[in-house]
Amino acid sequence: MDEVTGAQLIAEALKSQNVEYMFGIVGVPIIEVAMAAQAAGIKYVGMRNEQAVRQLSGCVFFSPNRPAMLHLLLVCFSVLLFLPVIVIGGSSDRNQETTGAFQEFPQVEACRLYSKFSARPSSLEMIPAVVEKAVRSSIYGRPGASYIDIAGDMVNAKIDRANVRFVSCCPAPPVSQADSREITQAVRLLRAAQRPLIIIGKGAAYARAEKEVRELVEVTGIPFLPTPMGKGVLPDDHPNCVAAARSRALLQADVIVLLGARLNWILHFGFPPRFSPHVKIIQVDLCAEELSNNVRAASALLGDIGAVVRQLLETVRSWRFPSDSQWWLTLKEKMTANAQISKSLALRSTLPMNYYTAFHHISELLPKDCIIVSEGANTMDIGRTMLLNYLPRHRLDAGTFGTMGVGPGFAIAAGVLEQTQKSAQRVVCIEGDSAFGFSGMEVETMCRYKLPVIIIVINNNGIYSGVDPKTWKEMEKMGDMTTIAPPVTLLPEARYEQVMSAFGGRGYLVRTVEELRSALQESLNNTQMPSLLNVLIDPASDRKQQEFPWLTRANL
Ligand code: ADP
Ligand code: MG
Repeated sequence: MDEVTGAQLIAEALKSQNVEYMFGIVGVPIIEVAMAAQAAGIKYVGMRNEQAVRQLSGCVFFSPNRPAMLHLLLVCFSVLLFLPVIVIGGSSDRNQETTGAFQEFPQVEACRLYSKFSARPSSLEMIPAVVEKAVRSSIYGRPGASYIDIAGDMVNAKIDRANVRFVSCCPAPPVSQADSREITQAVRLLRAAQRPLIIIGKGAAYARAEKEVRELVEVTGIPFLPTPMGKGVLPDDHPNCVAAARSRALLQADVIVLLGARLNWILHFGFPPRFSPHVKIIQVDLCAEELSNNVRAASALLGDIGAVVRQLLETVRSWRFPSDSQWWLTLKEKMTANAQISKSLALRSTLPMNYYTAFHHISELLPKDCIIVSEGANTMDIGRTMLLNYLPRHRLDAGTFGTMGVGPGFAIAAGVLEQTQKSAQRVVCIEGDSAFGFSGMEVETMCRYKLPVIIIVINNNGIYSGVDPKTWKEMEKMGDMTTIAPPVTLLPEARYEQVMSAFGGRGYLVRTVEELRSALQESLNNTQMPSLLNVLIDPASDRKQQEFPWLTRANL
């Protein structure tokens, strides 16, 4: 008899589904699963906090087609971002249910709300089949999370291999094309457009459709805007990128080709006053239920972005939107004006620095192929406009949920991939000081694995804004800080760089442009250990004047 344990079956099943990475935090009863995974050849990354583990779903953004695997309970982040991930949670023994057993909880039911698939294998025999279904569900259709619940007693229980229902690796997701009548309608709309615009969303990045999207933009000559994680599908310095005139482009466009992005709050729901009430949306998405959300699609193209864009290209043929049109002139004029404002803010030499100055110098030094992870409020919003992306799937940020604490998890996922693939790309994780606090202890994880991560904390002593050390001292003299300190404040000039040096990485305290440039250059040269730059900026620094002041936070 050839006996195998439940833990081995899970590990072997994951391996046979080509799952390569496992991120987690071990504890009873799941330790043996992580050990069996390593024995089966899956790379295991031990994390410090379950919240950060969850963000590692970002890993698959860089290396898709197979989900990354995590063990913990919370999956909703991955669901909201539509990134495929398999979550494995240990739960109480089967023969102790309803007794109040250690960690007894209705985990399968709890996860169902947040996942595409949630199940507990009914027996050891079924483990490979459940794992295959979990993997297939996470990558077929709209990507998302799957949850597998492992009863404690299943981990070390044994079974004869001859009785196991083994399932082979599920094939890559099937690709579908749009209805040809809808394609004809889309091309008719495009040809009649006065002010067309293409919006490139995260779906285009996930679909790996950069070649097709580039051809669409370059053949038709239409201006484009990326969403936060659509950045890099085409480079931000592409001549057709009108990100610097974003508000105007959205407001005045009459026909918009929406490639894999929801018309949710990130795109102001597609509603006035941010969009024209008469805008016609040509919507491309592989999720039928997404079509016509908020704005009725004038052409609903259900299918894979790569395949659908090829259909559009075949039909649109040699039609080209004129580059000397009024639309292009309007957009270019606005881009020049906006660039001027950012530049004048960036070139200010007063200390402490403002956001624009810090980002201007960071962007000058960052290599074009680096992976940029970002979170925070102003830090993320301003950074998104000032730090350019040149390659697809090289930007990760707080996304649809605006979740803080995602940065270190994303950065670790990217760093592990870079390290194991031995590519020379650096991971730069730009964090607000408040955002850094959520998952700061993951710095230990980065140091433990010597990951090529550079954390830059843009430190304004608070959430949105803070106070300077002198004012803080005066407030302390006035009495009880719980009644005086504004809720948005954090300890002024906190020494976050020492968190990194505590674990053997390099920490830099940065006050001036010269210090910023030299610390960043030194960190970029040192690929052996992570570094953290604690960049003290003006606690009163803010975004430049916005055309639409509402919904500015974490928004565009
Ligand atoms: P963003 O964050 O860029 O605004 P969203 O998360 O709002 O993006 O939307 C991404 C959309 O892309 C989802 O509606 C999803 O169904 C869709 N999508 C994902 N992969 C593909 C694909 N291969 N082809 C078409 N649409 C896709
Ligand atoms: Mg802050």
